[in-house]
Amino acid sequence: MSATDTAEPSTEIDAPSDFIREQIRADLADGTTRQVITRFPPEPNGYLHLGHALSICLNFGAAGEFGGFCNLRFDDTNPTKEEIEFIEAIQRDVTWLGFSWPGEPKFASDNFQQLYDWAEHLIIQGKAYIDDLSPEEIREYRGTLTEPGKPSPWRDRPTEENLDLFRRMKAGEFPDGARVLRAKIDMASGNINLRDPILYRILRATHPRTGDDWCIYPTYDFAHGQCDAIEGVTHSLCTLEFADHRPLYDWLIEQLPVPATPRQYEFAKLLISHTVLSKRRLTRLVTEGHVRGWDDPRMATLSGLRRRGVPAEALRSFVAKLSVSKNEGEVEMAMLEHAIRENLNQAAERRMAVLRPLKVVITNYPEGESETLEAINHPNDPEAGTRQVPFSREIWVERDDFMEDPPRKFFRLGPGREVRLRFAYFITCQDVIKDDAGEVVALHCTYDPATKGGDAPDGRKVKGTIHWVSAADALDAEVRLYNPLYTRADPGAEGDFVDDINPDSLEILTDCKLEPSLAEMAADAPVQFERTGYFIPDPDGTPDAPVYNRTVALRDSWAKAKGKG
Ligand code: ATP
Ligand code: MG
Repeated sequence: MSATDTAEPSTEIDAPSDFIREQIRADLADGTTRQVITRFPPEPNGYLHLGHALSICLNFGAAGEFGGFCNLRFDDTNPTKEEIEFIEAIQRDVTWLGFSWPGEPKFASDNFQQLYDWAEHLIIQGKAYIDDLSPEEIREYRGTLTEPGKPSPWRDRPTEENLDLFRRMKAGEFPDGARVLRAKIDMASGNINLRDPILYRILRATHPRTGDDWCIYPTYDFAHGQCDAIEGVTHSLCTLEFADHRPLYDWLIEQLPVPATPRQYEFAKLLISHTVLSKRRLTRLVTEGHVRGWDDPRMATLSGLRRRGVPAEALRSFVAKLSVSKNEGEVEMAMLEHAIRENLNQAAERRMAVLRPLKVVITNYPEGESETLEAINHPNDPEAGTRQVPFSREIWVERDDFMEDPPRKFFRLGPGREVRLRFAYFITCQDVIKDDAGEVVALHCTYDPATKGGDAPDGRKVKGTIHWVSAADALDAEVRLYNPLYTRADPGAEGDFVDDINPDSLEILTDCKLEPSLAEMAADAPVQFERTGYFIPDPDGTPDAPVYNRTVALRDSWAKAKGKG
């Protein structure tokens, strides 16, 4: 079915088109589905990342577009790796991304008793048995892609014995790993998932929600489809690696007296250049200390991106531009950055901040005096209004905006050169002050009082406009600049991905000078430091010692990184 098919009968819903939404449209049109119910099913063993954003936008987005809803369901069947911290972080991140679920979040563990009862049902139907083989033996007996498996010697245990052993497994009579419950399907199946898959294992681990109530836990395969059915999920969307599990999913739904018949559909994972998106790898970055935590702004986690200042809206519009497809293909990181910049260009007010300060003394400006100048807050949005910026005899400018021996195309400060101070005056560099080591420590300039506001009445032009901050009024701040976390577009392609970590991914500037009005801005308001980039306050900062994160620079920085390899 192609997205451009126009033959559809009824459902005129203004939703994006992709094969999943086409499926939903068709199911609604022919009555297969009355109300769309989806679910987003994270395992709480880490924080959500950019890949999850695609799944969240698809599951919550599509259900909403078609008048249905999406459950948040934690797939908490593996108590050894799951934690309350992750459960809380995941809820925060989904909410931040702009989605909500009906009622309380759901948990696979809510259904442990029902799943257990259904396991007994399978045993009674002769469709499941207790296997005493060791995990290694089970693997051996399973066969390979080219060789059929062979039946376990325990495969034909009498039903009564199976039931008795299963109950004793639950009662804690056997050590971990001693026995498992397996479905009795087909050891010769071409699909390895159907070679008597394991449904329950013995595992003494305290579960974050059910504590020590259980010492047997269902596998993902036995839990997932049944939870879907309990919740009335109509479209169970997952990534391609589960396509081979679908026959098992359907088999279980068919065997059990479940209240609904969910269907599974698979789509391609989101892959992004210059980053890694697997929880296993993200966990290593945190536990091995390569980053400062799960919400480190260099992380591809939703918490990291939020802390970095990426607006949820920018993420949603990035995801909306990707096609949900059956084919895996990598997306360029630059595309995400483009969406962020596009959003922030509208959303962020402008302010002035000097990141690497150089002192300028305006020698003909009266000592001890100061004035305020009017500055516009947003060049494309008059409603954002204006603010007053203090100006005085000593100001800070960017070190980079001065060159002692500038080339012809450098239009900023140099000996004898005139530039415009944004919103203020023209100044001309008269003297370069150096310390004993020959380092430039200050510039002595003169200003032209007639150029107030930025234009010369005699029509004389300057080619450069630079930003500045009044020294007496400046707020001192720390600014954290983030560079790509990896030195190559495909981290880990030739060895361990941690060997590809960029040692210069975080650059901390501790002597930054901010325009004082920044103290009045909201802690979650994005801001553009003029000529420098987009920034957001970091929670490490305090009113007296603010800290800012650079969200993105004003121009694409990935194009450069791409070439390097
Ligand atoms: P990871 O590989 O990072 O460990 P996972 O699939 O094990 O991810 P889950 O918590 O099980 O993580 O995922 C919850 C949902 O998010 C699943 O439906 C999964 O398919 C989906 N998902 C995970 N990673 C991606 C991705 N890169 N692109 C799209 N969807 C994803
Ligand atoms: Mg998983």
